[in-house]
Amino acid sequence: MSDYVIAPPVIAAVPIRGSSQVFPVRRIFCVGRNYAEHAIEMGSDPTREPPFYFAKPADALVVNDADMPYPPQTKQLHHEMELVVAIGSAGENIPVAQAMAHVWGYCAGLDMTRRDLQNEAKKTGRPWDMGKGFDFSAPMGALVPARGVDVSKGLIELKVNGKVVQTSDLSKLIWSVPEVISNLSHLVRLAPGDLIMTGTPEGVAAVQRGDLLEGVVEGVGTVRTRIV
Ligand code: MN
Repeated sequence: MSDYVIAPPVIAAVPIRGSSQVFPVRRIFCVGRNYAEHAIEMGSDPTREPPFYFAKPADALVVNDADMPYPPQTKQLHHEMELVVAIGSAGENIPVAQAMAHVWGYCAGLDMTRRDLQNEAKKTGRPWDMGKGFDFSAPMGALVPARGVDVSKGLIELKVNGKVVQTSDLSKLIWSVPEVISNLSHLVRLAPGDLIMTGTPEGVAAVQRGDLLEGVVEGVGTVRTRIV
């Protein structure tokens, strides 16, 4: 046991549906522009781009349907509804055919984005971190174990105040779950506790204080938070 000079950080964790156990989180990776219609709405060509990644700190998690405080320094807080993959076993240079064996489970999540800061970063060639990786930027629902869950297809949908704002199907992912795991594992060694947010479909838009966000991924689960 190391003799830390300050109290060590609390380990962020995602609840597991129907269990008192939780899933400890190491890193949160996110895939950019992984649905064609969203790539188009962001002004990109969806056909020619290999996957790319950014990250959020593990302690950006918001779980158990907790409220999300409206973040500072933005006038454009956007929702991005996503399928989240939880990695259960380590691997690097993982072949696509073996990728799913590294998955512990799945949950529904929101890649909340300070779009104005992200757009400014894009314009000036600066990092996206402050647009993407801010406090409370990753609300997530409970995890379900991977066994028997098919993420090759299924509804992905987000309602804001009861109105559907994003709706698509997992079959429309440009890079599928096993392809993402394989590709990312060629860039970093994936480790147990890593989460991968797999990208958002079209329909991203701004939310305000008081808005209730309710997302669902068919066969996986829900995510729910209120902006306060
Ligand atoms: Mn996203």
